[in-house]
Amino acid sequence: MTHVRWIFAGQLGELFDDGGPMLLVEARSVFRRRPIHRAKAHLILSAIRHRAAELGDRVEFHQVEHYSEVVDGRDDLEVIDPTSWAARRTVRRLGARILPSRGFVTSEEEFAAWAATRGTGRLLLEDFYRDTRLRTGLLMEGQSPAGGQWNYDHDNRQRPPKNAVSLGLPDPRWPVEDDIDAGVRADLDRWQAAGEIRLVGDDGPRRFAVTGAEAQAALDDFVETRLGDFGPFEDATLTGDWTMAHSLLSVPLNLGLLDPRHVVDTVAAEYERGNAPLSSVEGFVRQIAGWRDYVWHLYWHLGEGYRTGHNTLRATVDLPREFRELDTDAIEANCLHHSIGGLREHGWTHHIQRLMVIGNWALQRGYDPVQLNDWFTDMFVDGTPWVMPANVIGMSQHADGGIVATKPYAAGGAYIDRMTDYCGGCRFDPKVRLGPDACPYTAGYWAFLDRVEPALRGNHRMAQPLAGLRGLVDREAVVQQEREREGFH
Ligand code: SF4
Repeated sequence: MTHVRWIFAGQLGELFDDGGPMLLVEARSVFRRRPIHRAKAHLILSAIRHRAAELGDRVEFHQVEHYSEVVDGRDDLEVIDPTSWAARRTVRRLGARILPSRGFVTSEEEFAAWAATRGTGRLLLEDFYRDTRLRTGLLMEGQSPAGGQWNYDHDNRQRPPKNAVSLGLPDPRWPVEDDIDAGVRADLDRWQAAGEIRLVGDDGPRRFAVTGAEAQAALDDFVETRLGDFGPFEDATLTGDWTMAHSLLSVPLNLGLLDPRHVVDTVAAEYERGNAPLSSVEGFVRQIAGWRDYVWHLYWHLGEGYRTGHNTLRATVDLPREFRELDTDAIEANCLHHSIGGLREHGWTHHIQRLMVIGNWALQRGYDPVQLNDWFTDMFVDGTPWVMPANVIGMSQHADGGIVATKPYAAGGAYIDRMTDYCGGCRFDPKVRLGPDACPYTAGYWAFLDRVEPALRGNHRMAQPLAGLRGLVDREAVVQQEREREGFH
């Protein structure tokens, strides 16, 4: 029997095509489950429809309400193992022929072999990353890391240039929208008007790649114009420069349009040719072959219950309307105002805005980690079920009690002041913790420590911050102030 390969929204590139017949299903029910960022819905639909057009006669393309209308009862399906627990259950229930997953630098088999060597010890990112470099030869000189060091974080934590509005780099080469995008936008308008889906945020013009050709162009553009500045300014933020020197490749990577091995090989070659500094190249390779692969493998390794099974810090506050609707009107904290505003505009912010502004705010205020995880998945254009749990439940919210990160990523306003230009335009003062000018991050940091002290007392990495809390002369007043302040002061 000839098998038909059913491809999913994370499998839309050449990497998932072995030349046989294909099946592609656009199911509207996927967009009904929860509110979704409009730019994200647009990207997924546009990518699916562009792939259907590219494959032409080789693909059976269906636009239906639910997958089951097309796949139930079929015995000729083949899949490359899909990217969520729910999708894997479905393809197994259907009895589809299942091939190993693709789209990551390290295969699931290789990760399992590596994890087995760790015994019952922690699966540390740094160990995984070094093992990946050794196994693949990426940025290696024999058994040693290129340049003699594994890690260039020290070079890659520069503040944004003083008094600059932007990094001054050329605008990224944006994709050009076509009739398929126009059709997607018309459909979204119609479904929204009919109350069939709930869309949040702005849509357009489209800024992320949805075809293999656009993805390759985005990679080329990054390498030519931004790679050299990526490393040093990886963690820096400027209000007037939403992309900074970031690659904007997370969307095409998560749609399956680019092979991550090709991406890291391309970037590593720039170092080998002397075109890019090692600190930038290593920082980028670490993000893709290290962190991106690591969170993918942890998604499976930690099990389906990981997302909902932990709430170490007993965080139970419902996500506020300002987050759910991406409404910045009442948000006075300048850093949060611009981060949520940027998310509304583009469906994307870079990792420091996600972790140290938005995630830090939620952590300090005890937002429910599952609600926050799902919000990140639905509101960010690169959010997927597999990418967010280790990032949000683990790293950002410390809900897992230290499985992914050894301590909570809580910080006061001083960090934000150092790495961004937000504080200059803010009505609060990052150095003040008490009174009308008190920075909600600085005061919020101490109030957070006060609240979670019992849960973190045994964590040796928190010993110093908790000692600081105990020595705080105005501890009670700060805690009381933060209890009384409501909303988005
Ligand atoms: Fe954010 Fe505080 Fe700086 Fe204002 S002063 S931008 S609230 S860190």
